Amino acid sequence: MDNGKLNVPDCPIIPFIEGDGIGPDVWSASKMVIDAAVEKVYNGTRKIEWKEMLAGEKAFNATGEWLPADTLKTASEYLVSIKGPLTTPVGGGIRSLNVAMRQELDLYVCLRPVKWYKGVPSPVVKPENVNFVIFRENTEDIYAGIEFEAGSDKAKKMYEFIANEMGQGKKVRFPETSAFGIKPVSKEGSERLVRSAIEYALEHKLPTVSIVHKGNIMKFTEGGFKIWGYEMAEREFGDKIFTWGQWEAAKKASGEEHANTLLKNAQAAGKLIINDVIADNFLQQILLAPQDYSVIATLNLNGDYISDAAAAAVGGIGISPGANINYKTGHAVFEATHGTAPRFANTDTMNPSSLLLSGVMMLEYMGWTEAARAIEKAMAEAIMRKRVTVDFYNLMHDATLLKTSEFALEIIKNL
Ligand code: NAD
Repeated sequence: MDNGKLNVPDCPIIPFIEGDGIGPDVWSASKMVIDAAVEKVYNGTRKIEWKEMLAGEKAFNATGEWLPADTLKTASEYLVSIKGPLTTPVGGGIRSLNVAMRQELDLYVCLRPVKWYKGVPSPVVKPENVNFVIFRENTEDIYAGIEFEAGSDKAKKMYEFIANEMGQGKKVRFPETSAFGIKPVSKEGSERLVRSAIEYALEHKLPTVSIVHKGNIMKFTEGGFKIWGYEMAEREFGDKIFTWGQWEAAKKASGEEHANTLLKNAQAAGKLIINDVIADNFLQQILLAPQDYSVIATLNLNGDYISDAAAAAVGGIGISPGANINYKTGHAVFEATHGTAPRFANTDTMNPSSLLLSGVMMLEYMGWTEAARAIEKAMAEAIMRKRVTVDFYNLMHDATLLKTSEFALEIIKNL
């Protein structure tokens, strides 16, 4: 990182985790396409040197550890890495390898673009209207993992504290059998997430950032996220943006007509509009009016639900990419959003698009946008020609069924 900008050499070393289950199949297909696109687009002047990192079952079998310290050290040292899906170890030790990596590298943004490619089978009538980018907060919220099991000493202590110290005992309906979870949401955590979403929207010249929250019920945590987001936006981005908070203030001071005029002027001047939506309403909006949204900034748990609901509208998890990013340090781990689908391990049948498109996001992040666009176009062409893997094949008429590796070769042919 040079002054907050990633400085990428022509032959960068990029660590990868192959992943468990279907990981090796989808990784080898993705790597093949990425290498071919980089070679083709840059005529051999650029090349990625891949470096394997161990994690998951493969690491456990080789070292006795699910997430060796070496892997975290490598991911930290090389800044940018990519990974396939990992088995979540059952019982004891690490709760989730993905969560451990996110926390260790403080990857505070989970970035999930949601976009439809022509021909992908979708359950909605106009999937082409779905085209937005989700910024999900990745380090806080009820997801931080502060939980106490029902019946445990800690849960009992927690209840006693709530009842005796905080005077809130009546709010716990069944104290004897209640489990408890804590939801930390901070000003810094909220601000850095919303800031990243705004910077992304400005850089990509997108019209809106929508803060999605449940602040009507959880006033201090989710409500705080919204308020801190608006305040930071107005303080740091000044006249590049116009917020609903400013609209409301104008309405209060001089009426709705005046507020609407200010909003129209801001839109005409190309300012970024920052609004907010209640999370349950937003889940409807994904189906009813997705065209009204371009960048979403939301908390951890909302973001988890929203990402999968939105992914379903454009063809499901087999094709949705993702990344975990710390824009300050530059650390980024690009990853498939689906799991290891162990039943299909080593069958060479599953769709590699989720990991491949995560690779496309990685190339964009590195500034290698020409290669990214080439892959995206070549993949879209394969889908349009209905030359696809089994998940899409089952939902299309007159399609040609390809194996994972054949789908990769088809994309390379289209480059
Ligand atoms: P899963 O995503 O592995 O599989 C669910 C179903 O989705 C599969 O049976 C398959 O029908 C379909 N599917 C998944 N990937 C596909 C692809 N690339 N192409 C076509 N279809 C695909 O979810 P699961 O069964 O709940 O989890 C299995 C394991 O994966 C668990 O150990 C879980 O903890 C882990 N997991 C890991 C990650 C990750 O590493 N990011 C994410 C989710 C689950």
